[in-house]
Amino acid sequence: MAQACYLHVPFCRHICAYCDFTRCGYHETLADKWVSAVVKEIQEKLQAPLKTMYIGGGTPSALSYEQLNVLLTALDPYIQECEEYTMEANIESFSEDKIALCYHHGINRISLGVQTLQPKLLKIIERKHTKEEVLSKIKEIKKNGIDNISIDLIYGLPEQTMTMWKEDLEEIVTNFPIEHISLYALTIEEHSKFGRMGVKNIDPEVEEDMYAFAQDYLPKHGFYQYEISNFSKQGKESKHNCMYWKYEDFYGIGCGASGKEQHVRYDNTKNIHTYITQGSVANCITLNKEDEMFELIMMNLRLKKGMDLNHFKELFQVDFEEKYASVLQKQIEKGMLAISDGYIKATEKGYPLLNDILIDFME
Ligand code: SF4
Repeated sequence: MAQACYLHVPFCRHICAYCDFTRCGYHETLADKWVSAVVKEIQEKLQAPLKTMYIGGGTPSALSYEQLNVLLTALDPYIQECEEYTMEANIESFSEDKIALCYHHGINRISLGVQTLQPKLLKIIERKHTKEEVLSKIKEIKKNGIDNISIDLIYGLPEQTMTMWKEDLEEIVTNFPIEHISLYALTIEEHSKFGRMGVKNIDPEVEEDMYAFAQDYLPKHGFYQYEISNFSKQGKESKHNCMYWKYEDFYGIGCGASGKEQHVRYDNTKNIHTYITQGSVANCITLNKEDEMFELIMMNLRLKKGMDLNHFKELFQVDFEEKYASVLQKQIEKGMLAISDGYIKATEKGYPLLNDILIDFME
């Protein structure tokens, strides 16, 4: 039985120019109906005490205090043994009463959507906070008892320069009392406002340099890289996300959420009206052994320590090195992959080219 759950809140108070996630503008009546539907799904679907719970979005903090209270109360029975309980929030909508409410319901980790500290870039991506507000929100969250904070940052934004990127990282490692940083490269999706406006990605070489700089700089300042996009202080890796990368089962709740249970992957409807009137209406795919072997490799190679070869054998009764002998020979010779201490992992050279390496495993 799954011991982790992802719950998707589709509402945002403002739609950002680059966004192509499953989300919609917050509307009180619609959100009330969504809360009723999601409470029903929680009660029908969740069965076990959970080890990790993650409420993402959208913007969970966009819900009103009362709506958030109903949602968190419905989750209470399932999180009594939870080791990590995360909620995503943004600076403007995460008021102090909501922070206290989260703490009261056992939330012990907050993931803040910061993206950049540069006023010019914040304007371009239509985020309304300032650097000072980010810092003050982090302090407010800590003051209210939640002491594990992650922030999201985006690189490759239009008009973002290497100097701006360096300034942001320096400011964060020097002054921000946080435990975890997730990095995202901007992808301009066709259906986002940026896509419709014809905004172009920055020079891919600059984007690669930004990633390489972060990879080098953050570990020197206390944030070690444990996954391709994630850096943390020692012991503060995201337990929930590690569960995905270890390919464990998880419940998916809410419209736009996905889950995986007992060799079946399901994607709940993304249509909020369908969700409210008919429930999750999930599209299910049964994963065969080959699918699962590939997905395990794909997820595990994102981790800095790589994939445990014994774990692979225990799960599938297949010897990894035998099954993928020709791919391994090619990628090890090219210096992209390495095997040591029972783990296969991407090398420094291979890490940025992981997608290309994975194609070989697909074939
Ligand atoms: S980027 Fe986040 S906050 Fe902005 S619209 Fe998308 S889901 Fe909402």
